[in-house]
Amino acid sequence: MIKLSQNTQRIGESATMAISARAKAMKKAGQDVIALAAGEPDFDTPAHIVAAAKQALDQGFTRYTPASGMPELRAAWAEQVGRRRGVAYQPNQLMVTAGGKQSLFNIVYALADPGDEVIVPAPYWVSHPEQVRAIGAVPVILETSSDRDFKISPQQLREAITDRTRLLILNSPSNPTGSVYTQDELKGLADVLVEKQAPVLSDEVYDELVYGGEFTSIASLGKEIYDLTIVSGAVSKTYAMTGWRIGYAAGPVEVIAAAGRLQSHSTSGPNSVAQKAALAAITGDQSMVEVMRQEFDRRRQTMIQRLRAMPDIICPEPHGAFYAFPRVSAYYGRRCGDQVVDGSMAFSSLLLEHEKVATIPGLAFGDDAHVRLSYATGMAQIEEAMDRIERFLNRLV
Ligand code: PLP
Repeated sequence: MIKLSQNTQRIGESATMAISARAKAMKKAGQDVIALAAGEPDFDTPAHIVAAAKQALDQGFTRYTPASGMPELRAAWAEQVGRRRGVAYQPNQLMVTAGGKQSLFNIVYALADPGDEVIVPAPYWVSHPEQVRAIGAVPVILETSSDRDFKISPQQLREAITDRTRLLILNSPSNPTGSVYTQDELKGLADVLVEKQAPVLSDEVYDELVYGGEFTSIASLGKEIYDLTIVSGAVSKTYAMTGWRIGYAAGPVEVIAAAGRLQSHSTSGPNSVAQKAALAAITGDQSMVEVMRQEFDRRRQTMIQRLRAMPDIICPEPHGAFYAFPRVSAYYGRRCGDQVVDGSMAFSSLLLEHEKVATIPGLAFGDDAHVRLSYATGMAQIEEAMDRIERFLNRLV
């Protein structure tokens, strides 16, 4: 047997991928599965973006680009990310990566050493703590509750910071809860971070998907916190480009340069054709972004309304991203045939088995009382899935 490294042995399998894979296999076998498990828009990439990629191919734009991305893309994205946040980023403050995921990994790698602590609020997106573990650092999980909209308080943050703390990972709008920090709430956290001189990796991949409120980036709250913030994002969710694999990290020059050195020895520059597509996405017509946001909002409202009408289901209002995160724990301890619903894993698994609706158990995000439902799927499917969930709940005795 070949011995695996400690680093990879620490990494857990992605529970979100596991249930999605099972749902896909059932679908392939001809079963009528409704997938509310997806973490990606169901829209096609807008045509002008696809056309730019075709043109790049026709023009033979198929060679290596610089390791931190095409200069034009770095410049255009730095300008756009800065403008959206009311701050300025120079092109050398932004690197282009193979998706938001690589950007996050690069920054964790650039800032934390083995044994260092990285603060991760729960519920967290699955990869946040795993990336920290992958490099031998320690995720320090901060619990939140649905009555506080799944947000950490400045006091909680202050108490969690030690002299081993290298980073806070913040994700607003959040996957899986959909919660969005307000400017005041971020200001409270920023004050603590500035006082303690602790950097923050702000995962803003859902920045364009906010409903009924404003998006605020912690980087925009003054020079001191700007200097401690690395923003991470991608074209993935905003432009329906998950498969193109283009993201960015923006922050202090020395951090981006360090992450760039890592990337130059791992993947090198991202896919050249996809970078051209991303450039077209960022600099071209933005109207599709709003069209998609409005459609997500419509589906969000339908899904919440339906969930809230179900007995014993508590569904906090998600203000961003494209997920609902209802509390289903009132059903724990009940039975479905001869099986006991003893947590979110059993709930999701039995729901998939009996009513063919795929969801993600909250346990994957560090919160066993809830399950995650994605509304990045058509309205008719959402309605049908809600009927099935209602039927499933009725079965539980
Ligand atoms: N951050 C969060 C919170 C996400 O939900 C995702 C994707 O699901 C990502 C980052 C990664 O996005 P990308 O597909 O660009 O790697």
